[in-house]
Amino acid sequence: MLRVAFLGLGNMGAPMALNLVARKYDVIGFDVQQSSRASFTAAGGQAAAHLADAIEDANLVITMLPSGRELKSIYLGEHSLIEKIKAGALLIDCSTIDVPTTRKVAHAAEQRGLAMVDAPVSGGTMGAKNGTLTFMVGGTDLAFLRAEPLLTAMGKNIIHCGQIGAGQAAKTCNNAILGVSMAAVSEAFALADSLGLAREKLFEVASTSSGQCWALTSYCPVPGPVPTSPANGDYAPGFAASMMLKDLRLAVDAAHAHGVPTAAISQAAELYALMVARGMGGLDFSGLFQFIEPNGPKK
Ligand code: NAD
Repeated sequence: MLRVAFLGLGNMGAPMALNLVARKYDVIGFDVQQSSRASFTAAGGQAAAHLADAIEDANLVITMLPSGRELKSIYLGEHSLIEKIKAGALLIDCSTIDVPTTRKVAHAAEQRGLAMVDAPVSGGTMGAKNGTLTFMVGGTDLAFLRAEPLLTAMGKNIIHCGQIGAGQAAKTCNNAILGVSMAAVSEAFALADSLGLAREKLFEVASTSSGQCWALTSYCPVPGPVPTSPANGDYAPGFAASMMLKDLRLAVDAAHAHGVPTAAISQAAELYALMVARGMGGLDFSGLFQFIEPNGPKK
């Protein structure tokens, strides 16, 4: 019987882990925040109060953490999970982190005979809840085959992108597109307001024209046109602006390291950095519209 330790029970991790529970996997969750553990157990999950207890009998570890820092600390830092986990266990990291950290942790795991895949996701909290996430996976063919059934229990599209780190590379590029397109859509709505163009009309035109994109038609940053978008709920996340800033910085850092010009991505990162510095990092990333136009349309 597989025992899964699921580490990181936040906006994404909790609903993902609950989908595994619903498919009858034996899951023990862990989160450093007591409140996250409490809501996970209230929703039907089982949580350990200490990391060591969560991993004790696990032969599969899934991580859904804010950044590479937490992943490194769990596996290589004070907790040194790499040393403590059962021999033969499979490690699946679903967090969005940088490629070098992924490869460093995977290399340390390999030294101990443990297989690891990076499997970051796209699809947001709704996708996590509905089990419709897209997983972008990096790792060996064998590790991919071992991870696939679990990923299928949490997602709809499971794409093997290449060797370890390839999933994170795909995720970094995807979110760079998302960050830039959300900035463009938000600025276009602010411009429409200033030009006296009704928001519904811009939506009607752009959603059926060449301006069509996911940031507009699935996640519209102004209230109204897409009833399920966070704009209709005071921009509660969803996907926090601080997380988008992290992802854009991953893209900018990778571009610098490889000498790739990324002017648009860098500008989008700057916008999100300003938004976060203004104390708006906890809003959904589509709250960028509110940052750009804090006082509503000009009358
Ligand atoms: P979140 O902040 O809601 O959840 C992260 C959780 O990890 C928190 O509950 C936190 O307490 C916990 N945590 C931090 N350090 C820990 C540790 N050492 N051990 C155990 N738990 C620890 O974030 P989220 O929105 O769930 O995002 C998680 C990851 O998924 C991020 O890397 C993010 O970029 C990525 N992601 C998020 C979305 C989204 O829509 N929210 C979409 C795709 C990818």
